[in-house]
This record gives sequence, C-alpha cells and structure tokens, in this order.
Amino acid sequence: MSSLWLRKVALAGATLAPSALAFSHYTAAERKPTTTALRAAPKLKQCVGGVWRESSSPAHIDVEDPSTGALIGTVPEGTPADAHAALRAAKAAQPAWARTSAAARGEALKAMARVIRANRVELAELLASEQAKVAGLAQVEIDFAAEYFDYYAGWARIYEAGEIISSDDPNEHIYLHKIPIGVSVGICPWNFPVFVMARKLAPALVTGNTVVVKTSEVTPLTCARLAQLWTESDDAALPPPGTYSVITGLGSTVGAALVSSPLVDIVSMTGSVPTGKAIMKSAAEHMTKVSLELGGKAPAIVCADADLELAVKGVLASRITYSGQICISCERVYVHESIKDVFLSKLVAAMEAVKVGAPTDEGVDCCGLVSAFQLEKVTGMVDRAVAGGAKVECGGAPLANVHYGFAPTVLTNVKQSDEIVQEEVFGPVLPVLTFKTLDEAFGLACDTKFGLTSSIYTTNVDIAERAKNELRFGETYVNRENFEALQGFHAGMRQSGVGGTDGKHGLEEYLASHVVYVRRDPNAGN
Ligand code: NAD
Repeated sequence: MSSLWLRKVALAGATLAPSALAFSHYTAAERKPTTTALRAAPKLKQCVGGVWRESSSPAHIDVEDPSTGALIGTVPEGTPADAHAALRAAKAAQPAWARTSAAARGEALKAMARVIRANRVELAELLASEQAKVAGLAQVEIDFAAEYFDYYAGWARIYEAGEIISSDDPNEHIYLHKIPIGVSVGICPWNFPVFVMARKLAPALVTGNTVVVKTSEVTPLTCARLAQLWTESDDAALPPPGTYSVITGLGSTVGAALVSSPLVDIVSMTGSVPTGKAIMKSAAEHMTKVSLELGGKAPAIVCADADLELAVKGVLASRITYSGQICISCERVYVHESIKDVFLSKLVAAMEAVKVGAPTDEGVDCCGLVSAFQLEKVTGMVDRAVAGGAKVECGGAPLANVHYGFAPTVLTNVKQSDEIVQEEVFGPVLPVLTFKTLDEAFGLACDTKFGLTSSIYTTNVDIAERAKNELRFGETYVNRENFEALQGFHAGMRQSGVGGTDGKHGLEEYLASHVVYVRRDPNAGN
C-alpha cells in the first residue's frame, strides 16, 4: 500500500541515475528530526469513545525502535472489555452523527487534518523511530494522512445520497436512499499505520458512520499519540465523542472481540491473507460486511522494447521503498530473454548501490526490517530459495551493520513454482525470471493466488492495451512504479482481498441502500 505521495517519492527518484536513488528530493531538514523529546519513551493510553484512558487491564505492549532495538514507548494491551466499551460508544453516537449534515462531517475531517498538520514533525519522528522508516518517508506519510482527511472532506457535498427510480406506476416514486452502514471496525497493519488509519476513518466518518480502529501491535505508538492529540484538542469542529475510538492491543484478543461483535456493521481490515480469512470467518457469524485489503505478489513484465532505464528505476523504487515492506511493491520480475543480461546487470548495479541505514542517516534509501520476526521470515525464504538452486546475483543475507537489515537481493535461476516466486516476501528481494512470448509472460504473471497489483514496461501501445485486458489484478501500472493514487480505487482480486478503498468507490463501501416506495393518491387534491 501507499499512494500519490509515494509516487512523488518515486518520480523524484526516477529523475536520477539508479545508483543515486536516495529519495534525494528530501531536504536535509526533512531527513533529520528537529527534536529528540520523543526518544524518552512515551507511555500512551487509548481513546475509547472520545475519552483518553487506561485499559481495563494493566498489561501493556512494549514498542521497540527496530533500527536500534531500544524500547521507545508503551501502549495498553487492550482487552475485549475495552473493545466492547468502544463499540457501545460507537453504536450510541451513530444515529446523531448520521443526522449531522454531511457538510459538518466534512468540517470535522478538516479539523482532524489540522491537528495532524499542527503536530506533523513530532508525529513523523515517532513514526520513523517505531517503524525504521526513512525520516523523509515518515514525514510524507504523516502529511499524506492529513491530505487524505481533506480529500474525503471534499466529498461531503459531492457524494450522492441516493437516486429516484422510475416506477411502473405513474402515481409512485421509488427512492433509493444511500445511508450509512452504521458501526465500522478498522483493523490496521504495521507498515503504513497512520495512513491506513486515515483510510479507515475518513470515508467512514464523512458518510455518517462511527468507527473503532485497532492499531497494529507492532507499530501502535504514532496512531495512539495522534488519537491523544485529537482527544485533547480544543478544536470544536472535531468529531464528537463516541464517533471514533482508537484502541491498541493484540489481534487475537481485542481484534477478535471487535470483528466478532454483533454491534458491528462493517469490518474494514488491512493485513495478511491468513488474518483476512480468519476475520471473514468470524464476521460470517453475524453476516457482517467485510472489506479486506490483503497481501500481494506483484509481477513486473519487462518487454524486449522497454525503456530499460525506466524499468530499472521503477522496479527499484517499488522494491526498495520502505525496504520492500509494501503490499503493492513489485515482488517478481519477468524479463524478455533477449534483454535479460543487460537488464540484470543494470538492476544488480542499482540494488548494490542502495544505501541501507538508520532513518535519519544522510542519503539513506531504506532501513532495516520492522522486526526480528520479519528479518527471520525474509532470511528463511532466501535461504530456502538458494538451497533449491537459486543463484544470488547480489545480497542474499542479513546486513551485519544495520539492525534487522537485509541486503538488497536479486535472485536468478528460480522456478515459477518456487516459494520465493509464489509467496509474499515483504523485503528487499527480487527473483528475476525470463519469458519468450507475451502469452507466456501474461500466463506467468497471472499464475498466482494473489491479485493486488502488476506492472509492465513497454514502448508498444498495442502491448500495453493487451496487458490491460490480460493482467487480472486490481491495479496495473504501465511504464511506472507500483504506487496508487488516493482518488483511484485500491482493491485486490483473488486472495488479495474483497472490496476496496480510496476515491469514490472506497467511500461507497460505507453506504447501504434503503429503497422506499411512495404511492400518492391520484385523486387527492382534485
Ligand atoms: P497481520 O495480518 O498480521 O495483522 C493485521 C492486523 O490484524 C493487526 O492489527 C493484527 O493485530 C490484526 N489481527 C490479527 N489477527 C486478528 C484476528 N483474529 N481478528 C482481528 N484482528 C486480527 O498483517 P501485518 O503483518 O500487520 O501487515 C502485513 C500484511 O498486510 C502484508 O501481507 C501486506 O501485504 C498486507 N498489507 C496490505 C495492504 C493493502 O492495501 N492491500 C496494505 C498494507 C499491508
């Protein structure tokens, strides 16, 4: 996941030689934190129904800075009792919120954006340190979250509240009202915690729903801190108490309690496929609607006629941004056999030139992975690929000098059926395969259980048109890196999810229809 802002990042990088892809458009000030106040571990609470309070249990979650391993803060390990309290508040607040004018709801979203902007540097610093995210990228995420609230605030006066359908009876009107679904639960992942939280809150609130968000247990700090800022702000335009809650805790306890509650009308979850399946099963008990944005295994096809510099820059930006820990990132490359050698030598040179370091290091492209678990997962997948015959063109192992760091890696001599080609790696690792014909390329690209994003590099418009028809993915990028726009529609096929987010169609996820037939007496008034 990511968006226009990451496109800005990638486009800026794409004007440079691949070896200089250091997101160099970040200013020195953006790269460096301006204060170290937050290094003193914040001990945060939860926002339950608009009240900033402790959990019903004293248990808490320690959060580490993945680039050092140091403890940088704690959040409550929320309980099912916290989940139910937040849901009861959401249920109670929803009717009045739905009766509030859409314009006023839009103003509330603008107020949420104002609070983010007023604290943008502090939030970005905390985000960079809890996530091992390049400081400039963390700042872009915070700024884009504010932009996201403003974007959906703009929809308040634009989205259609219904339509009038012609009746077979001339004395009847059929009104189709678009109404809020009710109470929404947003379950968030660790990789873009603040942006995804904005994705869960903005379209739901603007359409008159109330929301309970659960942050990831891996990176809960910045979301919790933002919730505190909203809760304690005196901006009168902010959404009233009860309309939103931000709770922290484990998926297996507080998350499971949220998604299985009969008080919930829609669960919007972003995360892994296994968790998506568990949530879908749980939601089935009460026929709760689900909207699931799950993992990906995006192919990039590099055709014989491709602009190779562009292809290398696009693939590199997509794989290296946030160390490849993005669902839409290019995860496997199919290159035409006639250009394999030249493409590979450029790609390997670019990957070897990537600078991996700490979030505020000068000129750093990406950092170590988010956790020991993630490093172990990536290392295990690469080791198994190599044991199965893969050739390491560069990288291939953890980095001794970067905490949880894994070297940018290119693998060849892999087979389509290999784990490394079929399963999501979520790290800076690229398997490269070849193809002879376009039929073969499209077939290999679509041979996957995932269906989130895909890309193709070609200078032939006919091939691009064919790709549009044959690549069965939620998104396809032609001659550009894999990053989506907030006004688009981010939705996966196959096991990458159901439903989607962003733009007009993302907003409609939060609306139900109510059809009312009104017959008048044709003789009345005569
Ligand atoms: P995850 O599935 O481990 O966790 C996601 C969230 O689900 C967490 O908040 C977790 O606590 C919660 N959860 C876990 N079990 C639960 C349960 N039984 N009931 C309710 N909630 C539960 O995913 P992650 O490791 O945080 O994120 C990485 C994954 O997310 C990757 O697969 C990535 O591709 C995917 N992702 C997808 C998108 C997208 O837009 N499609 C965006 C970002 C990340």
